[in-house]
Amino acid sequence: TCSEAASGRPAFLRFFQEQHGHRLVPSVPVRPRGDPGLLFVNAGMNQFKPIFLGTAHPRSELAQYQRVVNSQKCVRAGGKHNDLDDVGRDVYHHTFFEMLGNWSFGDYFKEEACGMAWELLTQIYEIPKDHLYITYFGGDASLGLSPDEECRDIWLSLGVPPSHVLPFPLRENFWEMGETGPCGPCTEIHYDHVGGGRHAAALVNQDSPDVVEIWNLVFMQYSREADGSLRPLPQHHVDTGMGLERLVTVLQSKRSNYDTDLFTPILDAIHKGCGGPGYQGLVGEADVRSVNMAYRVVADHVRTLSMCIADGVYPGMSGAELVLRRILRRAVRFCSEVLHAPPGFLASLVPAVVEVLGDAYPELRKNTDQIMNVINDNEAAFLSSLLRGRRIIDRTLQQMAPSKLFPAEVAWSLYGNLGFPLDLIGLMIEEKGIQLDWAALDQLAQEDAKRKARTQQAEQLEGSSVRLDVHSLAQLQRDGVPATDDSPKYTY
Ligand code: ATP
Ligand code: MG
Ligand code: MG
Ligand code: MG
Repeated sequence: TCSEAASGRPAFLRFFQEQHGHRLVPSVPVRPRGDPGLLFVNAGMNQFKPIFLGTAHPRSELAQYQRVVNSQKCVRAGGKHNDLDDVGRDVYHHTFFEMLGNWSFGDYFKEEACGMAWELLTQIYEIPKDHLYITYFGGDASLGLSPDEECRDIWLSLGVPPSHVLPFPLRENFWEMGETGPCGPCTEIHYDHVGGGRHAAALVNQDSPDVVEIWNLVFMQYSREADGSLRPLPQHHVDTGMGLERLVTVLQSKRSNYDTDLFTPILDAIHKGCGGPGYQGLVGEADVRSVNMAYRVVADHVRTLSMCIADGVYPGMSGAELVLRRILRRAVRFCSEVLHAPPGFLASLVPAVVEVLGDAYPELRKNTDQIMNVINDNEAAFLSSLLRGRRIIDRTLQQMAPSKLFPAEVAWSLYGNLGFPLDLIGLMIEEKGIQLDWAALDQLAQEDAKRKARTQQAEQLEGSSVRLDVHSLAQLQRDGVPATDDSPKYTY
């Protein structure tokens, strides 16, 4: 039905613009503006947050929006939404992806939103109806919320058979922006890649590659108050998001996002650069040792690196910058140790990313040289540490009993002295069938944080301005090292 990946994106934008009167609003850069709680833009709705919160200035352009459509660059690799660990292990979570979305700000609501989504999927994209499953909010007794029967009835009236319309609880089908603020029930559309349908309904929301969530439609009708109660909003809004990569997989009749032409040029470039039999696709469970896993991780990470650097986020020492450094070091490690590629290889893949995404996002074309230089500089800075760390890991593995956990002290020293991301150490030893002693590592991280806090306190008494921050391992993994005013941007 669709000959090229990009047609998924323009068809979406055209449909809402031309057939349903939506205004096209461009993607904002992946670095969030004026939202200190957020590492990266992680959903299309981020730039519209003030409208939902009711804080947009009445005369601002934002406040004039009624029907909007866009395609937003998203990164989910840190903070509340972190899909980094899934990347490469499955074929539908990326660190960078594009979210297609349409919005109603106080304009249409449930009936029109569902109707338009159904029309687009089944008539424009011509996706077979029997492959689609719908979930709706099944209610929540503790909040006094009844099931969203209105939503269910809308889908039934659109001709979806009852066996394809399934209720799910709060966790899956009630969307909340944060602890407080706008929220509401959502309805999601899932695609059954296998067909035939008998077992598909049981696989919805089970993290199965056979039935994959493609589109989320959120109905903003409440505000969560500080005391936990829900207050009905005076205005009703619609906020939707569909992953372009997952949509294109459906449109191109593939089973994996990596088999679509959003990824194949990048996988081909990897193959050209490192030889061997090339990418073999994912068969069954992902084997973390396999060259195929490396292909997926590197292809994913080089997209994220290119997009972030083009938007001015460089690998660094705190916040989003640190997350990007982690991604870069993971990519470098897979290139060098699994693909056995020479230095400079990772950067050499950037033109393939530009070829795929450069028309939609011209900032990639404009900054290609800069992206490649930043990747090469950062790779060079990590490669010698990588060699040293690998020797330390191998020596430790040789000396330890195979049934034991990998010692936390060694991991902590690799992290502290050689700049190894902790998750990367975990992966490198998991490949040898060994697990890291995470509990002991957590202990070490907390002791270290307390020690640092004590010295900082002493320094503060002497008039120093260093902030006092106690970080647990979980926090470290999520947000990276605590930011201090003197954190150097380019220290490895
Ligand atoms: P999942 O349950 O698969 O993790 P989600 O419920 O976290 O997805 P939403 O927050 O509802 O995702 O985002 C809307 C849409 O964005 C999803 O339906 C999906 O198509 C897409 N999407 C979400 N996360 C990713 C990702 N990491 N990579 C690619 N697409 C994604
Ligand atoms: Mg998710
Ligand atoms: Mg989901
Ligand atoms: Mg969802």
